[in-house]
Amino acid sequence: MASRRFFVGGNWKMNCDVNKANSILEFLNSGEMSKDTEVVVSPPSLYVSYIKQNLKADNVTVAVQNCHTATSGAFTGEISAEMAADVGCQWVILGHSERRHKFGESDELIGQKVKHVLEATKLGVIACIGELLEEREKNETMSVCARQMKAIADNVSDWSKVVIAYEPVWAIGTGKVATPDQAQEVHDEVRKWLEANVSKEVADSTRILYGGSVNAANCKELSKKPDVDGFLVGGASLKPDFVQIVNAKL
Ligand code: PEP
Repeated sequence: MASRRFFVGGNWKMNCDVNKANSILEFLNSGEMSKDTEVVVSPPSLYVSYIKQNLKADNVTVAVQNCHTATSGAFTGEISAEMAADVGCQWVILGHSERRHKFGESDELIGQKVKHVLEATKLGVIACIGELLEEREKNETMSVCARQMKAIADNVSDWSKVVIAYEPVWAIGTGKVATPDQAQEVHDEVRKWLEANVSKEVADSTRILYGGSVNAANCKELSKKPDVDGFLVGGASLKPDFVQIVNAKL
């Protein structure tokens, strides 16, 4: 089995001002974070350059939270993957549940974004999938994840630049974390989906992160599961707890 480097991403969402950014920089710069973990922080795009300039931790890279499908043009309010790369980002989060469910992004649009990022830039993609509570209650978790995976996978030209984040929508920002068994069950299914639909090599090497109310208290148990290769963290990425989550495997 390929070894998969533990990966922890911090999604700050639309939560930041310069003061807050400074307090986050303080724990990122002074906290002792395991070098075995790949760490990515995703501030609102207006703050990316400020974070890049003031980040001293050398194993932390920066992501944008979304991008457009085009390089440039008359798309008021949007940013492109090329712009993110130009200011030093290395990753883009795509298909976050808030983009899907609050901004109406379809599987097809997310697929187009994945395609553009991978073909036009050197950025990596953190591609998010996950079911709504009513879908879980109807036993549709895996069919929803498979549908979302297909829209992503059909557009991937280089799997070494893709990380999957399984984020059940009912767990995001709710304090209702999936149990380690619930997370493992879906991660295992997603890996099997990759094996059946892409290749065994890609299934073995692709990191599958869990996201949804991860915090310093629950991260260790989740990280013990064999198919949990890291986390995408929202609320707790704004607090020093983030350092403990980065070190979950220690
Ligand atoms: C997220 O926004 O991706 C997320 C997982 O949020 P939270 O950790 O706050 O549930």
